[in-house]
Amino acid sequence: MTTVKDHVAYSLVSLGCARTLVDSEKMVDALGHGGFRLVEEGSGESVTILNTCSFIASAVEETENNIQHLIKRKKEGVLKHLVVVGCYPSRFGKDSLEKQFPEVDLWLTTKEESTLQATLSKLVFATKYQPKPHPYIKLTPSHYSYLKISEGCDNWCSFCTIPKIRGQHRSKPIAKIVEEATRQMTFGAKELILIAEDTTAWGEDLFGKPSLPLLLKELGKLPVPWIRLMYVFPPRVDASFIQVMKDTKAICAYLDMPVQHVNTTLLKNMNRGHTGEYLKDLVKRLKQEVPNLALRTSLILGFPGETESDVDELIAFLTEAEFAHVGCFAYSWEKETRSARLPNRVDDKTIQARIKRVMEAQFGIQQKIHERLEGTTQTMLYEGNGTGRSFHQAPDVDGKLLVDNTVGLTAGEFYSVRIDGSQGYDLKVSLI
Ligand code: SF4
Repeated sequence: MTTVKDHVAYSLVSLGCARTLVDSEKMVDALGHGGFRLVEEGSGESVTILNTCSFIASAVEETENNIQHLIKRKKEGVLKHLVVVGCYPSRFGKDSLEKQFPEVDLWLTTKEESTLQATLSKLVFATKYQPKPHPYIKLTPSHYSYLKISEGCDNWCSFCTIPKIRGQHRSKPIAKIVEEATRQMTFGAKELILIAEDTTAWGEDLFGKPSLPLLLKELGKLPVPWIRLMYVFPPRVDASFIQVMKDTKAICAYLDMPVQHVNTTLLKNMNRGHTGEYLKDLVKRLKQEVPNLALRTSLILGFPGETESDVDELIAFLTEAEFAHVGCFAYSWEKETRSARLPNRVDDKTIQARIKRVMEAQFGIQQKIHERLEGTTQTMLYEGNGTGRSFHQAPDVDGKLLVDNTVGLTAGEFYSVRIDGSQGYDLKVSLI
């Protein structure tokens, strides 16, 4: 009889956004209990797991480049098993991918990720591995954690492949989210970052209507200093949501609200469920109600039918709304989406020129915000290596605080700092 090896070393490549990273962390935890040991890529692993992203063409290309690279390593004999999981097999289907990449040993869609440990065990271990206790491995620094509160999306924005890839919206129960939040706090999390495809849809399947305020009230009872909200869908930001933001001390005066555009015709064709006027009013209301609110948004430039005057309208909106952070994306033509059938496509060169125009305008807007912050005192969560974040900066996607003197600073601790000036998208600070 073949004896079971104590551990099998594997590496993990997690592409895409924080939502994929949360899934990766779950798989790492399950694999740890199942006899697999996570190592750095190229450290003698016999298995590599690639967790993929595929919502637009550029993400598909990145995923396929990674698969090709790993196949090469397998052919060189460095790797024995190659596993590809997540959005890419969910979007394109395992049957066709098995033919396209026969060197991949195992494909798992997003809905099958929970079976990874059992399926991989069968492939790798000759006999059943006896589960053993294993320490939790975080893929983010211990002082913050992403909490994924639901899966999937029912909004069907006309440009988006995610409802097809990730399926119908499913909320996690309150007790499970609170339990996960508490667990992350025992690992040292001082900031909980709520994510989902649309966080404001939370509860719709549980209570018959979106109920994020209910969840926020519960999370607000936990002794965590910062709770941050990402991926908020504008039509669902209502009075009760704003009230909970105001009443809950731990909720940062920060909101990531992807708006995509402000032109009403484009918003209609995007199937966003609201007008540009609604958006303008909403931003005004939010800023009036939540003092010092920092707004983050994402935009799509070059949606079919977009004109130069629509871009002017967008820049005027950004100037008025003063978003603290803006991510600008080129419209990506994806054949399964409804927008793929719309006329008046915008060519790539024009899209890139429009992105440049919007980002230059936004840079000027952000510099004005920075100037206003100069001389103010802020609480900084120190990240290490001379950088930190205030409540108005989320990890990875926003700018940072640059600290002048790091002597005696510990990563994951809070400090009071004064804003001295700006450096590009970042702010220079000194300790008080
Ligand atoms: S809300 Fe986000 S994930 Fe859902 S369909 Fe729209 S863009 Fe896609």
